[in-house]
Amino acid sequence: MEYSPKKLSDILEKHGFNFKKSFGQNFIVDENIIDAIIEKAMIKPNTCVLEIGPGAGALTYKLSERAKNVLCFEIDKKLEPILEELLNEKNNVEIIYEDFLTSDIKTKISSYSFDSLYVVANLPYYITTPIIMKLIEDKIPVDKIVIMVQKEVGDRFKAVPGTKDYSSLSVFLNYYFDVKKLMDVSRHVFLPKPNVDSIIIELKKKECQTQVIDEDYFFKLIRESFKQKRKTIKNNLREYPLNEIEKILKKYGFDLSVRAEQLSLDIFIDIANRVSKGVCSNDK
Ligand code: SAM
Repeated sequence: MEYSPKKLSDILEKHGFNFKKSFGQNFIVDENIIDAIIEKAMIKPNTCVLEIGPGAGALTYKLSERAKNVLCFEIDKKLEPILEELLNEKNNVEIIYEDFLTSDIKTKISSYSFDSLYVVANLPYYITTPIIMKLIEDKIPVDKIVIMVQKEVGDRFKAVPGTKDYSSLSVFLNYYFDVKKLMDVSRHVFLPKPNVDSIIIELKKKECQTQVIDEDYFFKLIRESFKQKRKTIKNNLREYPLNEIEKILKKYGFDLSVRAEQLSLDIFIDIANRVSKGVCSNDK
């Protein structure tokens, strides 16, 4: 496919398409950036790619040339004729016109066979965190995620304990993935131009994950620990066995007046594993 900003504007104009800010529609108009995403994703032939928000299909087209299958979720039905025109000869692409956040992704994915599942997308920025949380909470078996996100949000993904950007999302991501920044992207490569710069981030499933006994409990504990960021663990975890938690925190040099933003993934895992199984009363 010959790709150019002019070609994209022509197609959009031909179909009378108007960008919707409320859907986070900023389409990539620089082919070098599309190629960079494709190269960095290192898609293997037997990979199924999940793309959230294909937009006018520029990334989708190139993904379909590398992957076994490309499964897309697009909320804006107005993009259907554009995507049909662009992808009509691509029989390994399926586009579902639904809100990704409320779709049954797990069932849909299970109808595909693949060796590895990658998410590759230029995400709608207004729902970056909910999209990632959905992938995690729905237990979608992703091996790798290569996504374009707003720069500030991407920086938060890599945040470490004790910094202002450290949040429950940082703990979840650190539990599941090795997080790597791949490249900076200027706001000038999008149509329309957003007010922020972007980065491409890679989240690669950890080969060796520290074992959590009860993941649901672990998730709930972390969410509640960060519920009110400025509050102490004692205040946020009132419903939990605080005596037991205090004993664990002591091992790491903390007490109940610590805030969640000071605590590393390993400390959360230790608390969740011991408290969920009542191991603490036999504390070593
Ligand atoms: N992939 C295209 C590109 O890079 O040029 C478009 C990316 S644009 C930043 C985000 C896309 O996500 C838009 O096409 C938008 O309509 C779509 N989108 C927004 N919210 C969505 C949702 N909840 N579910 C699925 N798609 C959504």
